[in-house]
Amino acid sequence: MRIDAHVHLPVTGDDRTFDKAKDLLLCDMREHDVEYAILIPDNVSGSPIGDTETALSLFESTPNIFVMGTIDIQRQGQEWIARLDELMTRRRIVGMKIFPGHDPIYPTDPRLFPIYNLCQTQGVPVVIHTGWNTNHPEVAKYNDPKYIVEVARLYPALSIVNAHFFWPDVEYCYRLTNPVPNIFYDTSALADEEVIRETGIDRIRKALSDTMAGDPRRIIFGTDYAMCDVEAHIELIRSLSLSGDDEERVFWRNAARVFRLPVGGGAW
Ligand SMILES: [Zn+2]
Repeated sequence: MRIDAHVHLPVTGDDRTFDKAKDLLLCDMREHDVEYAILIPDNVSGSPIGDTETALSLFESTPNIFVMGTIDIQRQGQEWIARLDELMTRRRIVGMKIFPGHDPIYPTDPRLFPIYNLCQTQGVPVVIHTGWNTNHPEVAKYNDPKYIVEVARLYPALSIVNAHFFWPDVEYCYRLTNPVPNIFYDTSALADEEVIRETGIDRIRKALSDTMAGDPRRIIFGTDYAMCDVEAHIELIRSLSLSGDDEERVFWRNAARVFRLPVGGGAW
């Protein structure tokens, strides 16, 4: 079984609609033997990759797609947080994504504390975007792992998923975050051409392998679909030469456990 814990739904091109993008996502999942996916909406309403409410209505009757909640703390406040609380209670959202670097905010911004409190109470993980943006290395200052470590220590019962391993500085990210047990990592974008060119495939593999050797429950398969190639990400995991059990953990068990997904009979 495979769960892709990090997919998006970009609507690009004149004739693309959310319905067409959804059909293509489900078709691509079948092609790559990905049974379940967690969709990450944008935190901007009217966005061409869809906001949280758009994703929820689009996938309401699609049991193999789970949805994350997102927030723009510069513009959304109490009212949206109350809505997220309700969505978490009903298990309509299984995670929360924040975008330091896309947004000029730090993970330690006090406006995020109500979100961390809510997620810790509800047992919902927070996914944090990290690393460079294409052609914009300077934005990585917002999502430096040192801030993520600070949040993880303030909220020890909160699961935090570091997306993209703070590329290209994967060793620095590993060194700071590996000692903190409530930090997990998804593999999204790590098999992307630009990420490999700037980081080096050996350094990416080493960061993942070292993490797995320390605790095989901390790496979660994700691709950053539709911006990234699914097969290249599957190959990246395979190239780590993990045991069968550990490969299963990466491909689905870790995501199922961390995001508490109703799959695999709860035997994670
Ligand atoms: Zn992404």
